[in-house]
Amino acid sequence: MAQRIDGKLISAQIREELKEECKAFVAANGYAPGLAVVIVGEDPASQVYVRNKKKGCEEIGYYSEVHELPASTTQEELNALVDRLNADERIHGILVQLPLPKHLDETEVLLRIRPEKDVDAFHPYNVGKIMIGDYDFLPCTPAGVMALLERSGVEISGKRCVVIGRSNIVGKPMAMLLLHANGTVTVCHSRTKELASVCREADILVVAIGRADFVGADMVKPGAVVIDVGMNRRADGKLTGDVDYNAVEPIASAITPVPGGVGPMTITMLLKNTLTAARKAAEK
Ligand code: NAP
Repeated sequence: MAQRIDGKLISAQIREELKEECKAFVAANGYAPGLAVVIVGEDPASQVYVRNKKKGCEEIGYYSEVHELPASTTQEELNALVDRLNADERIHGILVQLPLPKHLDETEVLLRIRPEKDVDAFHPYNVGKIMIGDYDFLPCTPAGVMALLERSGVEISGKRCVVIGRSNIVGKPMAMLLLHANGTVTVCHSRTKELASVCREADILVVAIGRADFVGADMVKPGAVVIDVGMNRRADGKLTGDVDYNAVEPIASAITPVPGGVGPMTITMLLKNTLTAARKAAEK
């Protein structure tokens, strides 16, 4: 039976550590790390994420602001808010919740956030730093996967790692982080031929596709570590991953469930990045 990698538990442990680190930061500097979250429009899923981010900040002891803008917000208005937050000394991290309404240019907004406040690590400057391996922030979901592997005692160095998915948010940075940890990394995508046989070579298989139960036992080497980033809604409203958990669990050595695996780590890593940003600002 596979070890169940418990993202809820590991996330709670990291948040406890962050609470202590936040206390020490406040004692040393006289103010708390600050995060500003900007949401435009009324997308219900985004509203839930934003609420959870604010709640996470409050629990740890950060200062936080949520800026809720109407769907009719213009590019100029959004840019002006980002400029204001860039200049605000109480704010160390800025997160603009994506997706934005269609009439707004996401790239323009992401480029406008000062890289040292870009706690999502989506600014090309930070993306480039991750490529080089000299980074302050890591994108939250791949960073969460790395923390799960580390805290579950999974050795990466020298291992065959396969990532399915090549998005800028998950797949590509995930591959880069596994490479920095000395894994031998293969990235697969929708045009990959003989996907199952490539996946069967993996000691560590990270799946970020967005298709419910896509990875079955035929794609997994016995004893592999399987990390499921997928978050898909079934017709009955239940959340499910990209991996068929019941089929894969008996042959894997360790596996993340959905829900309760990678999901809880993402906001935790955002909170960690916010503290890093505040520390960097305090050093100046
Ligand atoms: P995305 O931008 O849609 O990218 C999906 C990737 O999967 C693409 O690279 C695509 O290949 C590849 N793919 C699609 N179908 C495939 C197939 N049949 N065979 C092989 N590769 C295939 O998605 P994303 O933003 O990376 O998210 C992936 C999943 O992770 C989603 O379920 C999302 O909800 C979840 N997610 C979870 C968290 C979390 O906090 N847990 C955070 C972010 C995302 P091409 O490039 O060739 O199209």
